[in-house]
Amino acid sequence: MALRRCHDCSNDISTSARRCPHCGWITHWEVVNFFVGVPIITLFVGIYIVFFDL
Ligand SMILES: [Zn+2]
Repeated sequence: MALRRCHDCSNDISTSARRCPHCGWITHWEVVNFFVGVPIITLFVGIYIVFFDL
């Protein structure tokens, strides 16, 4: 498990931690996953609907 530095308080936090345990800052991966994951899921659902004519 790797450690990374909190952008807000500069303490070490786990890369798998969703929030900094020191200050509650949300790790950027959660934000990245949201903004990347939601469009990709929407895209795949859209393709599925178009191709299989549901
Ligand atoms: Zn912090």
